[in-house]
Amino acid sequence: MYDLVIIGHAAAGPAAAIYAARRNLNLVILTKDVGGEVALSGEVENWPSVIHTTGIELANAFHEHTKSYNVPIEQGLEVTGIQQEKNHHIVIAKDFAGNEKKYETKSVVIATGIHPRKLGVPGEDKLKGRGVTSCTVCDGPLFKNKITATVGAGNSALESVLMMGGIAQKVYLLTKYDQSDLNGGFPRGENILIDKAKKLQNLEIIYNADTIEILGDNAVSGLKYRDLKTGEEKHIEVSAAMIHIGMIPNSDFATRLTKNNNKEIEIDMLCRTNVPGIFAAGDVTNIPYKQISISVGMGATAALSAIDYLNHWQE
Ligand SMILES: Cc1cc2nc3c(=O)[nH]c(=O)nc-3n(C[C@H](O)[C@H](O)[C@H](O)COP(=O)(O)OP(=O)(O)OC[C@H]3O[C@@H](n4cnc5c(N)ncnc54)[C@H](O)[C@@H]3O)c2cc1C
Repeated sequence: MYDLVIIGHAAAGPAAAIYAARRNLNLVILTKDVGGEVALSGEVENWPSVIHTTGIELANAFHEHTKSYNVPIEQGLEVTGIQQEKNHHIVIAKDFAGNEKKYETKSVVIATGIHPRKLGVPGEDKLKGRGVTSCTVCDGPLFKNKITATVGAGNSALESVLMMGGIAQKVYLLTKYDQSDLNGGFPRGENILIDKAKKLQNLEIIYNADTIEILGDNAVSGLKYRDLKTGEEKHIEVSAAMIHIGMIPNSDFATRLTKNNNKEIEIDMLCRTNVPGIFAAGDVTNIPYKQISISVGMGATAALSAIDYLNHWQE
């Protein structure tokens, strides 16, 4: 039986592992990949002590640090459930081939982060990686001097157009809100980003736009939307559709845990969930700020809470 199973290996996961390994816990990390959203974070300039780095460099550094403590990392595993058995837990995972594995453990730290929300319209899945992306930072440079569209009304969409404004020939920004709505059609956007975006010479904002289809055979050639005011269907020609309409926590497998309406796992300030012995850290939780430094701090907190829990654990 393990003392601790950590699920996820990006920012919160490695931080928890480093703290747990230094206390000689018998632990294992189960993860789909190494790096998670950290590796997709592009340029990172808010990781204290390093003025500039990239998400990939930082994710690798977290990985190397974890490996230096000889923590076993089982990669390519998706956790599908956690069952309770008396006072311990069975973590169930499956590999890419669909083979199931079970891990008996006294405690668990969930550090599984979030994934981008999909539009759910025709063409989106078919053209993913062929012009449809939810990571402008990763794929934006592929569309130099092309015409691109960003869909969304929050900070992530605004950051996408700010980036594409300097790369693409022309950028559309489709918001389903009206210009008279809060923050001029970007209710969840920060004013500084909205002001910067609106100053872009090559940006055209389309308000009241409900995206209904991504067009193209082998690559994106256009985007269809319905004007929510007139009901009219319209079409724009673009080479890329950047979808930035929010993120969904990777928490489906944690069925016994209390979550909020956004599927974020609810925790207290010690990263404890409603189930004794199960802790959660980072973006998957109801912490409102989704940042690397915050996830790392929460990973450390979750590990220290797990250690305290284990100190009081009885057979
Ligand atoms: C484009 C972009 C730019 C960003 N820029 C910055 C920035 O400049 N500065 C900053 O501080 N933050 C930035 N962020 C936010 C930052 O990436 C996140 O706050 C951080 O990655 C959260 O770390 P995490 O460990 O909580 O989760 P994640 O990074 O989401 O990692 C989750 C881990 O869990 C694994 N996993 C998920 N589900 C399962 C499962 N069922 N079974 C097993 N493993 C699973 C994944 O494979 C992954 O390893 C950015 C994010 C994006 C998308």
